[in-house]
Amino acid sequence: MIPLSVPNLSGKELAYVTECLETGWISSVGSYVTQFEEAVAEYLGVKHAIATVNGTAALHIALQLAGVTQDDYVLMPNITFVATANAVRYTGAEPILFDANPHNWQLDLDLLEQFLATSCERSSTGELLLKRNGRRIAAILPVHVQGNIGDMNRLLSIASDYQLPLVEDAAESMGSTYRGAHAGTFGLMACLSFNGNKIISTGGGGMLVTNNTQLAERAKHLTTTAKTDPMEYFHDEVGYNYRLVNVLAAIGVAQMEQLPGFVRKKQAIGEFYRSELAGCADIEFQQVLPEVTHNNWLFTIKTGYQKKLVQALNNEKIVCRPFWMPMNMLPMYEACIYVSEKDHCRSIHSTCLAIPCSTNITDEELGVVATEIKRIVP
Ligand SMILES: *Cc1c(COP(=O)(O)O)cnc(C)c1O
Repeated sequence: MIPLSVPNLSGKELAYVTECLETGWISSVGSYVTQFEEAVAEYLGVKHAIATVNGTAALHIALQLAGVTQDDYVLMPNITFVATANAVRYTGAEPILFDANPHNWQLDLDLLEQFLATSCERSSTGELLLKRNGRRIAAILPVHVQGNIGDMNRLLSIASDYQLPLVEDAAESMGSTYRGAHAGTFGLMACLSFNGNKIISTGGGGMLVTNNTQLAERAKHLTTTAKTDPMEYFHDEVGYNYRLVNVLAAIGVAQMEQLPGFVRKKQAIGEFYRSELAGCADIEFQQVLPEVTHNNWLFTIKTGYQKKLVQALNNEKIVCRPFWMPMNMLPMYEACIYVSEKDHCRSIHSTCLAIPCSTNITDEELGVVATEIKRIVP
């Protein structure tokens, strides 16, 4: 079997975890949590990082701290992993879904700009409201889909024109940069994920990153049950038990040591597939801006032969995955406002396919995958 994208634990993971087990420091206090946070903050070039149980939890806290609350709207892409929309709902807010740009598969900024200009208005108190019902637009939540980054300068200028906080879902984009700055460093806050299939993994885990010291302190407080006294059980608000445990952070520290190598390998895999499959007229690749370096986290092709390929690759025990189902096709989000002209999301869903790209895949395996794809796609 050739897996899709599996964790690569060939560094010091076992040594660090063993140390946690031998010393008893396995839970939410321990030096690896701090070390992991410092390593991530330094790598991204961001002031603060707060480790959480998963990326969804980081997103939930980031939205809450951005001021998103009951009955607000959050502007986000229709095509993403479901966690993005779920985190919005956890705050009591409602997503407004935007179609994707058909070339880079990121939130379509033309649609976003048009929507803000025509469907929203300022209240007398300066809040941005949806005209049709007077509900508040609270934040923009872009997702760096597949690790790619869209036109960040344009998005930042839209957010600033409309005075909307930007929370980045950077769960897939560790190692990607835009004009030399890392994904996750553009917004007020960003979330990262270390789930099993991400570019680095702690089994499960996430992080909230920000340059804002006050928000970082609030995030740490909220993720540790809002306890204010080291001795007494005094908690000053409803907090969450969202902190990452030391034993998983130990894996994270070992993974961070390997991240630059993982990014190089993922990029080499991407280059291999792009050149090997360039001759297939029916295959398109995700468009990447010249100012972006793409981590190629989960290499994905776009082809009318998606269904046939799934079957053929399955027969050869080559694992592949169609693209996420758009949020507006899921029962809990089908009633959300969906801003779209051509519904590119539906076609991305039915034509995109992620193919094997683990950091420990061999050249021979890559060759097998490419050959099988070329056999099916003209
Ligand atoms: C993985 C992922 C998340 C959530 O991360 P978890 O750590 O699994 O909670 C959120 N958004 C996107 C786009 C993701 O791919």
